[in-house]
Amino acid sequence: MIVIKIGGAAGVDIERVCDDISAIHRSGRTCVIVHGGSDHTNTLSRELGIEPRFITSPSGHVSRRTDARTLEIFQMAVRGLFNQRIVNTLLRRGVNAVGISGVDGRTWVGERKSAIRAVEDGRTVIIRDDYTGTVEIVNTQLIRAVIQSGSIPVLCPPGLSSDGHPINVDADRAAAATAAALNAEQLLLLSNVPGVLRAFPDETSLITSVTRDAIDELMEIAAGRMKKKVLGAREALDRGVSRVVIGDARVDAPVSHALNGIGTVFS
Ligand code: ADP
Repeated sequence: MIVIKIGGAAGVDIERVCDDISAIHRSGRTCVIVHGGSDHTNTLSRELGIEPRFITSPSGHVSRRTDARTLEIFQMAVRGLFNQRIVNTLLRRGVNAVGISGVDGRTWVGERKSAIRAVEDGRTVIIRDDYTGTVEIVNTQLIRAVIQSGSIPVLCPPGLSSDGHPINVDADRAAAATAAALNAEQLLLLSNVPGVLRAFPDETSLITSVTRDAIDELMEIAAGRMKKKVLGAREALDRGVSRVVIGDARVDAPVSHALNGIGTVFS
């Protein structure tokens, strides 16, 4: 079993990614897809006249400021548009696929952060009306039922808080938790870069292999949203996934490439 997380960033061709996944599924491997949709959310939000906002934690992690209205826009973009587009693209290739958000069947459950510390203009402030959290429990029944039926599950945020409300969760880390819960052999995190770059954006500075002990050092090199992927890679390895690849989604046959070890391989 492989868990494939697809990024939604510019330059990623979903048609091509789905061509590859359909072929791998037909060859008999079990595929589970996870996706986010940060760029789709930004686009829809701007179309609705709301400029997306981001917050930086005291430790330097950047995340979306998700108030109640942003959560609705996030659901429209990620579950409503992007998830259905991926499902539909697979269906057109004759592969059955079923969309599952983390809310559906309580698939991704986590705790909502009731107070978030953020740095604004050099000052640390506390935000209380944010709807974000981290996936702590993956309920695999629905995913397994979809696999059993011969279909590909296509998972996406939001997750569900333990008191029953949707929460914005990071898709890279949710993919890591899902791979661990399903005892998947591999987790592939595909994005619009060749992998982790030692000197971003220089694509010739690709780091090709990383052992568990060297991951903390890599956290210093990875900036912005790449930090979440490295964190996800570490969490997956620590929970028993034997191989994680951060690879390029922009190439032909991107999943096969990553399976062949092209990208940053964590083991
Ligand atoms: P996706 O939406 O595909 O999941 P993200 O945009 O969340 O991807 O994360 C990938 C981005 O991380 C890259 O497009 C790049 O801008 C950024 N990044 C920051 N530091 C690095 C690095 N050291 N190596 C590669 N990418 C990096």
